[in-house]
Amino acid sequence: MAKIINGKKIAQEIIQELVVEVQGFRDIHNTIPGLAVVLVGEDPSSEVYVRNKIKRASEVGIHSTKHMLPIASSQVELIETIQSLNNNPAVHGILVQLPLPKHIDEKAVIEAIHPDKDVDGFHPINVGALVAGTATLKPCTPYGCMLLLKSIHPDLSGKLAVVVGRSNIVGKPMASMLLQADCSVITVHSRSHNVEQLCSQADIIVAAVGRPNMINSGWIKRGATVIDVGINVVNIDGKRKLVGDVDFNDIELWADAITPVPGGVGPMTIACLMKNTLTAARNQVSNK
Ligand code: NDP
Repeated sequence: MAKIINGKKIAQEIIQELVVEVQGFRDIHNTIPGLAVVLVGEDPSSEVYVRNKIKRASEVGIHSTKHMLPIASSQVELIETIQSLNNNPAVHGILVQLPLPKHIDEKAVIEAIHPDKDVDGFHPINVGALVAGTATLKPCTPYGCMLLLKSIHPDLSGKLAVVVGRSNIVGKPMASMLLQADCSVITVHSRSHNVEQLCSQADIIVAAVGRPNMINSGWIKRGATVIDVGINVVNIDGKRKLVGDVDFNDIELWADAITPVPGGVGPMTIACLMKNTLTAARNQVSNK
């Protein structure tokens, strides 16, 4: 039976450590780390994510502010909001909740965030630093996946990792971080051939696709570690249920360790956002 990697518990431990670290930072610098969360429109899932982020921030002693813009806001208005947050010394981290409405260019918005305040780690300067191995602000979801992997394998050196998915927010940064940890890395995507066969050789699989239960025991080498990033809503017997990209029940007997959905990667993403906000505050205080 596979070991269940309990992301909820590990995230809670990180939050408890952060409570102490944030208090230490506040005492030494007489400064409260500040996180600004910007939301455009009223997407119910985004509102839940924003609420959870603000709740966590308050738990660890980070001051958060919420900036709600109507769905009809223009790109210029959104960028003006970001610029005023860039210029506000009480704000150390800025997070713009994605996805944005279709009329707004996501890339332009990400580039408007000052790289020092980019707690999502999506700005091209931080992406470049990640690839160069010098990043201090790393994209939260893959950062959380790395912490989960390291809880099982403190030394990842030489392991063959297959990342399924190549998005800018999960797949690509995940592959960079695994490479940085001395894994051999293969990234597969919708145009790849022999995805199943490539996965079946992997010591580590990270699934970030968005297809319910796509990966089953036929794809897994016995003893592999499987990190399931996917969050998919499915209807089972008339009830809404969250499932990952991995068929958890099917691979449980094959894998060495797996993350559940929910309770795996999800809670780690928010914990890593809090880590990044403290890091951003530390960087900005030391650059003064
Ligand atoms: P995207 O839709 O941006 O990317 C999905 C990737 O999967 C693409 O690179 C796509 O390839 C690839 N893909 C699609 N079909 C296949 C296939 N049949 N075989 C191999 N690769 C395939 O999604 P995200 O990266 O944003 O998110 C992925 C999942 O993770 C989603 O379920 C999302 O909800 C979840 N998620 C969870 C988070 C958390 O905190 N737990 C945070 C972020 C995301 P191509 O590039 O060729 O189109």
